[in-house]
Amino acid sequence: MSSKTMAYAGGLLILPALYVFFYAIRLLPAGHELSEWLPRWDRVLLVVTIIVLERFISYRYAISQRAVLTRDLISTAVNFWVTGAVTIFLLLPALQFFPEHFLGRGRFFAAPEQLGPFWLQFLTILLVISFARYWIHRLQHEIDFLWEFHSYHHRTTDLIALNADVSHPIDYALRNVVIFIVLGLIGFDPLAMLLAVPVARVSNFSHCGADIKGGYLNYVIVTPEVHRWHHAAEIPEGHRYAVNYGVEFIFWDILFRTFHLPQENGEFLQPARIGHTGGLPDEPSYLKLLLKPLGLYRPLARFKRPEKQQPAE
Ligand SMILES: [Zn+2]
Ligand SMILES: [Zn+2]
Repeated sequence: MSSKTMAYAGGLLILPALYVFFYAIRLLPAGHELSEWLPRWDRVLLVVTIIVLERFISYRYAISQRAVLTRDLISTAVNFWVTGAVTIFLLLPALQFFPEHFLGRGRFFAAPEQLGPFWLQFLTILLVISFARYWIHRLQHEIDFLWEFHSYHHRTTDLIALNADVSHPIDYALRNVVIFIVLGLIGFDPLAMLLAVPVARVSNFSHCGADIKGGYLNYVIVTPEVHRWHHAAEIPEGHRYAVNYGVEFIFWDILFRTFHLPQENGEFLQPARIGHTGGLPDEPSYLKLLLKPLGLYRPLARFKRPEKQQPAE
């Protein structure tokens, strides 16, 4: 076996091994020594793992993201530890009002058995999560108002672990939090939720900046090879806004004809340039990312020192 073949085979094994490892972490039994610590820090461990991979298996079109490092760190921390909590605090009472007011209970279904056998509930949860996130993400590209918020995620010029969660909190919550609150209110079997929800977390690997191969997984999961095309600066021919909208699974894109992953000589091709499709440069200011889509950034500019007038020619 040549060294190139070995590297390719190794690349193919890395993603499945990491998916299994990080899925297993979420299922550690309560009371286990690690089960206290890991579920709270597994996202940080995952980011660190991907950064290590990026160091060792460099990607041929890699572009340094050092200039936007502070923005990346702030946005990641906000979306990891603030966005979810605030969204639940604001949205849960409003959504809970419906079953409580009309049905007199906290869930839409009183008993999980009403939702069918366990295996069907497990599959339903996965399909609902991936279908909802596919369409929310697609609409975030197609509706101007939503694109105002989502476009900052597309200003990055390369995909790396630290910009996976660079996103306006409203954009992030719509795609990554709301559906889980709704699912929690339906009344699924808690064990089906516990087993199914962490599967959706495979999405965390889509921004891995290392040159790792997806192989056949590219047709099931949103691998880095698949997600780079979603961030392509030039929209692939035949598509209007973007391609590969899936957040964790890619089969909805295949079904709704938004999938794009060209091959040449048996190898998956990658876009030569990643960035905003309208040509806008990356935005290093987190404050601007946060306030501009809300129309609140411009008033702050009043406090800036006026620029010197150019003398008339
Ligand atoms: Zn997008
Ligand atoms: Zn992305």
